[in-house]
Amino acid sequence: MIAYFAMEIGLEDRIPTYSGGLGTLAGDTLYAYADIGIPAVGITLLYKKGYVSQKITPSGMQLDFDTPWDYKKILKPTNLQLQISFGELVQEFTAWEYSIIGREEIKVFFLDASLPNNHPEIRKLNDRLYYDDGILRLRQEILLGIGGYRLLKALGYNISVYHINESHSAFLVVELIKELGSKEEVRKKCVFTTHTPVPAGHDKFPVDMVKQELKSYDHIDWDKEAEEGFINLSKLSLNYSGKVNAVSYKHMFVSSNLFPECSVFSEGYCKMDYVTNGVYHKRWIHREIQELFNEYIPGWDENPILLGQAYYIPSELLLKAHMRIKSDLVNLVNKLTDSSFSDDVFTICVARRVTAYKRNNLILSDIERLKYIAEHNGDMQIIFAGKAHPKDTFGKEMIADIIHKSKKLKEMTKSIKVAFLENYSIEMAKLLVAGCDVWLNNPRRPYEACGTSGMKAGMNGVLNFSTWDGWWLEGGIEGINGWGIGPKPKWDDLSESNDKEDLEDIYGKLAHIILPMFYRRKDEWVRMMKNSIATIGPYFNTYRMAYEYLGKIYQIGLR
Ligand SMILES: *Cc1c(COP(=O)(O)O)cnc(C)c1O
Repeated sequence: MIAYFAMEIGLEDRIPTYSGGLGTLAGDTLYAYADIGIPAVGITLLYKKGYVSQKITPSGMQLDFDTPWDYKKILKPTNLQLQISFGELVQEFTAWEYSIIGREEIKVFFLDASLPNNHPEIRKLNDRLYYDDGILRLRQEILLGIGGYRLLKALGYNISVYHINESHSAFLVVELIKELGSKEEVRKKCVFTTHTPVPAGHDKFPVDMVKQELKSYDHIDWDKEAEEGFINLSKLSLNYSGKVNAVSYKHMFVSSNLFPECSVFSEGYCKMDYVTNGVYHKRWIHREIQELFNEYIPGWDENPILLGQAYYIPSELLLKAHMRIKSDLVNLVNKLTDSSFSDDVFTICVARRVTAYKRNNLILSDIERLKYIAEHNGDMQIIFAGKAHPKDTFGKEMIADIIHKSKKLKEMTKSIKVAFLENYSIEMAKLLVAGCDVWLNNPRRPYEACGTSGMKAGMNGVLNFSTWDGWWLEGGIEGINGWGIGPKPKWDDLSESNDKEDLEDIYGKLAHIILPMFYRRKDEWVRMMKNSIATIGPYFNTYRMAYEYLGKIYQIGLR
């Protein structure tokens, strides 16, 4: 049995306890494990107020609201009462259960310490996802790791592999070392997947804070684990895991540079490996496209390798299905905004968390140039969606910039329309990744560990236009299944993108390659749509990913 620990799991929109790709990946992973029949159990936290809910004012300011949800209706109580300590405080917690039914039933447990008899500070742990990075966050992570371990024990699970999916749950090793006695034994049971290519993205806490909060668990010498007075949870995870992986081939080199002690070039117990992420094809391929696949590629859902046969789909039917989805998307945009989009205009989508390295507003950098391109090469519609973290002031400024520039463009030209959709979510993503014509993703290299939204688009025949980073370095073939942005780096080239150079590529390819093909060579366009499905579908799905985790990563549990 695999215990899959994750701070966020994006299962469905009724459960708003996810913020982005990390959470949707966790959901996709467990759906795939259930389908394939990999025995697993998911552990996460209950956040009663969810993640942030977004309202954009007319001037472009993001206002942040809570997202309360009816967890008592959606989840099943376990009615367990277990104990956990935070410093001197001995507290109780329970868990709520969600079931994924496949060949195997996979349970996901949402840990909850917001019980009426607990200390008010502890009851806050179950308010919101990623709200704090101080003691509240530390305690959330203690609840996730130690609470999760204790819950599994109490329920009688026999766990052969603890999957620390991103380091938030690293404190589970505190319990494991107590049970197993030595680091070597713990390493036989733990695997760690790292997702964050920037040093600042790794959780760190002052060693004294950790010692205070974990004083009743004296199995680890925290001073020995500390670096410059801090406990870094990624380092802790690396130290106690027998297998460590990055989430794309390129990310393996980036992570090797971040963690030289576990580099791909090193020898020893801790050598960086990789499993490129995938997406759960059954969730992300739109119903209209699924129906075509059922007709022309029967078996694609059980065996997504068959998506390589997308060429059997008649071109006019693929285009028609795409146009029906696009029409739904245009209707949604027109319902939610006053941008008056139309079905027959070339449509780009930029949808993901809004944060500096994603450069969400890059395409709007030079609106005079963009106007010129649209007026000379063909009209354009651009849809933006995505939330900024409440404390990410730079992200919020990018949203304001998008709103400001789209107003300006509206005054400048009729050839470009821009819409911003509030509250990007799984359900909205399902329509966006299938309904636009081009999926634009221009993160700053080398900071996209993998990226998954482009895979969702690609499987729907939506063409990717992306920075050569993360998964696109493995999946992209220039001019065949999409287009790249900026120079294509060698695997171990960790240099950063140059914004100007990338922008030049975006504008140049739009004007000279993408718009002309969309408006004047539809047959070539549809051929690329099929190439996209046929090259991206067979590999970038969570079935392939699950088998790689079984073969390369979880094997430590068999030794
Ligand atoms: C897939 C998905 C993401 C991840 O998008 P990236 O562009 O890979 O960062 C984020 N949010 C939602 C709702 C998604 O469905």
